[in-house]
Amino acid sequence: MISRRNFVRKTALLSAGLIVQHQVGTIATIRKRTDVVCIGAGLAGLSAAYALKQKGYKVTVLECRDRIGGRVFSHQMSEQLVIELGGEWVGNSHSRIQELCNQFKLDLINNQMDTHLIYKGDYAPAGTWGFSEPWSKKWEQLLKGYADLTDKDKQHLDQYDWWRYLVNNGCEGRDLEIRELLDSTDFGESIRQVSAFSALAEYAESSEKNEMDLKIKGGNQQLAMRLADAIGRENIILNCTVTQVQQTDQVTITCTNGKQFTADKLICTIPAFALSKINWSPALPAEQLQAINTLQYARINKHAVLFGQRFWKEDGFDMVTDQLPHYFYHATRGQAGPEGVLISYSIGDKAAVVANQSNAVNARVIADTLQPCVKDAASLMRKQVNYYWGNDDISKGAYALYGPGQWFTLRPVLSRPFKHTHFAGEHLADWQGFMEGAINTGEEAASQIIG
Ligand SMILES: Cc1cc2nc3c(=O)[nH]c(=O)nc-3n(C[C@H](O)[C@H](O)[C@H](O)COP(=O)(O)OP(=O)(O)OC[C@H]3O[C@@H](n4cnc5c(N)ncnc54)[C@H](O)[C@@H]3O)c2cc1C
Repeated sequence: MISRRNFVRKTALLSAGLIVQHQVGTIATIRKRTDVVCIGAGLAGLSAAYALKQKGYKVTVLECRDRIGGRVFSHQMSEQLVIELGGEWVGNSHSRIQELCNQFKLDLINNQMDTHLIYKGDYAPAGTWGFSEPWSKKWEQLLKGYADLTDKDKQHLDQYDWWRYLVNNGCEGRDLEIRELLDSTDFGESIRQVSAFSALAEYAESSEKNEMDLKIKGGNQQLAMRLADAIGRENIILNCTVTQVQQTDQVTITCTNGKQFTADKLICTIPAFALSKINWSPALPAEQLQAINTLQYARINKHAVLFGQRFWKEDGFDMVTDQLPHYFYHATRGQAGPEGVLISYSIGDKAAVVANQSNAVNARVIADTLQPCVKDAASLMRKQVNYYWGNDDISKGAYALYGPGQWFTLRPVLSRPFKHTHFAGEHLADWQGFMEGAINTGEEAASQIIG
């Protein structure tokens, strides 16, 4: 068994792949062309299609939304300012996304933050708060100890939730409450619902700032755009919801608009909820269906507020709070002011509550929460935009949430190819929950077809 992050990239296989000759529409083909359909124009689908296109395969990408990028969703908050409503940070360890940015001449800019805290009504600027000394020491030990865990240890750890693991290791009181605030921000739900293995692996194997390091200048969605240009926009069909997949000697894909596509291979990159709505013939194996219906996704709400002035002063400002707005960060870092955007990022039940409130209510709650840090945030607010991933029609969540006992059971089942179909997407990745993971799995699926 490989370690969670020990992802063996198959890009070498891509370059060693067969040269496929295209002979369109003739009986006298020298070698049969492999046609591939990818469902989903998120980073997994686009990187799969791009890898195949580079090897001469004919690829068609089907996307149900009216845009590409999927859960990477940049938004123009004002003429000058762009924010991310979906995937935000590119990690220092995320080498493949960095390589692609480099290749497409997209600049990656610093997006590291120094975290302030509001806890029980007290405001503590960055650098003035921390954990108790005993817990800080223990935390370092736990992270170091991860490297020595055996496969059996890891499976054992996966049986527990992250909250219980922390408690069992002596985290308590204020330390525990603050860890819960921080870590639930990463997983998008209460840490009582997160596999302890999944959490420990993430913290032990991530960069110093926990992969919150960089972002793409001008918006992360630009990477999706560049990939789409390289694939050929004519090969990407938007507003095309796949409802049926029929697999015989080939695979026939049917969309709601009645369009049908036939291919030799299919790469399906859609999240579990979307998968559950497709009619498969023959039916998916019962175990796979069960896994699709079991995997949960994190409820994350992003509430973006455009302020007339950047009262938070530091470009790398972020702040954890123990209130409904949960976590604030400067979303226009590296972009010229004077206006700037703070995103209030809520998770789990908090996200569902925030999402149901009017802008007026959210503005009041945000201003109240920020009070210990800035006296009159309300008077500086110019515009608000809210996006709740928990109710997103397609994914019903931001990213997959592996609960206790699920990492080593559900994920392998969900990753299993079925007849002509390979599966990909963030939920199947070693870098699960990240853009990097989506790209890795897309390229991995492509390499399985290329051979
Ligand atoms: C709020 C939020 C914060 C995040 N923060 C970060 C972060 O800081 N750093 C990071 O690296 N990652 C982050 N992520 C995760 C990252 O955005 C995802 O891991 C990645 O974008 C997922 O890509 P994907 O291709 O696997 O899935 P998707 O992007 O969801 O792509 C799947 C595509 O398939 C389409 N589709 C679904 N069903 C059908 C159908 N039946 N027919 C046709 N098309 C269909 C969907 O519309 C979608 O476009 C965040 C995500 C969210 C939502």
